[in-house]
Amino acid sequence: MRFYTLLAFCLLNVSANAQSSFCGTGIEDQAYLLNLRAANFNIDKADQGIIYIPLQIHNVGNDNAVGFFSNLIIFESLCTLNQDFLPSGMQFYLENEINYIRNTSWNDHPEFQKGEEMMLKNNYPNVVNCYLVANPAGNCGYYTYRGDAVALSKNCVGKNSHTWAHELGHYFSLPHTFYGWEGIRYSNGKATEDYQSQVFTSIENVERKNCKFQADNFCDTEPDYISNRWTCSGDGFSGSILKDTKDSTFRVDGTLFMSYSNDECMKRFSTDQMSAMLNYYNGPRANLKRVNVNPKYIASNPIALNFPIDSVVIPPAKIILSWQAIPNATYYNLQISRTENFTVVVKNLMVNTPYVELDSLISNKNYWWKVRAFSAFDFCGSSSEVGLFRTDQIVSLDDQTAANIKSIVIPNPISENQNFMLQNGKALASEDFILTSSIGKQYELFNKEVMGDHLIFTLYDTKPGVYVLSTRKASAFKPVKLVIKNK
Ligand SMILES: [Zn+2]
Repeated sequence: MRFYTLLAFCLLNVSANAQSSFCGTGIEDQAYLLNLRAANFNIDKADQGIIYIPLQIHNVGNDNAVGFFSNLIIFESLCTLNQDFLPSGMQFYLENEINYIRNTSWNDHPEFQKGEEMMLKNNYPNVVNCYLVANPAGNCGYYTYRGDAVALSKNCVGKNSHTWAHELGHYFSLPHTFYGWEGIRYSNGKATEDYQSQVFTSIENVERKNCKFQADNFCDTEPDYISNRWTCSGDGFSGSILKDTKDSTFRVDGTLFMSYSNDECMKRFSTDQMSAMLNYYNGPRANLKRVNVNPKYIASNPIALNFPIDSVVIPPAKIILSWQAIPNATYYNLQISRTENFTVVVKNLMVNTPYVELDSLISNKNYWWKVRAFSAFDFCGSSSEVGLFRTDQIVSLDDQTAANIKSIVIPNPISENQNFMLQNGKALASEDFILTSSIGKQYELFNKEVMGDHLIFTLYDTKPGVYVLSTRKASAFKPVKLVIKNK
């Protein structure tokens, strides 16, 4: 009953102050988590080394599939999230693909109840469920115990944001550093003692004697009374000076993720906060534990772009862009831009293959392109250099380079172990041809012979699937898609 009373209180607060709230995690939710952790006080100490925790992303858009969040920004945000959690030894990974939900009333939910309905209907079991929405009840984010998931505003997450770390701090039982002061505006013009009747917890003092029973119950997080978003000074502390109940003065530590300082200030969880999260993981959240996780990371070497080779002119239709397949990569982000600094991105695609086939681009234009590779564990990934190509309808007949050789494969699709012909491919007889599978495995095509103007290839033991046919020397031949079917 009390829970609903407090929720109603929060809603009043939000409607009075819409879009300005940082975090909507209720006092009652924080109390529940804190008590649950306290009740499991004697649980095992944290394991040694890195703990891999499965995280599920729910990308929420409108009924008409508009408004989904950019996958690239999701990965950049997750990269920051794992950097934020690294000192704790907790690292998140994607056990399943991103879940897309089309529902306007969940995407823009002014009230917590609607968000909780979304969570209860869509949560995956035994993972950390995170929902990316346009409006999480007027906040940047919140955790609710009833929905047992985190909702995050698409406007508040990104590579320079620590909102995700803050909300997952709640998920693993951490209260705010100013816990108890939610919704109260502190002023040092008023005696701090006089706030006690309004403040939900025992007000924390500079003196550490009772710190275990005051505010967030952590002794290595100093007093904090600021419950609205604030900016820190260069040293990470508040510019304003606060007074505790015994008139000792202090400045608030804005370096902690669980404070309400802004993103430039936040950079850490305290040691006791990290222990508490690990204890909570080992206890009430033991359902997240996995055995034999095999984390797959991506080497930081730059990705080589294969085709189009740099600065080449290509026809504007049926364009294949291909790049080096990266070991362990499961996602590739391709960006094509009309400007060199990527201010006008015309394609922003997330694919599972080391190539993309585009129907068309506007003719007679310059395009810059780059690729980033990620895995389900490696959200920072590695990048390519920026490549450049130009589209042009007319390709000179005298030009003996790749673009004008009619790269028609006959038949296509082909059946397993069937021969195929590259029409007018005689001039390429001395080139080394390769087939690249959708997972980046490469097969050298040794068996080829000239027949008239054409080249005939013989396939042995090539599994059905989608391949790219190309030459080792990227400039020799425009890669084409080749589909091999079951017999
Ligand atoms: Zn919060």
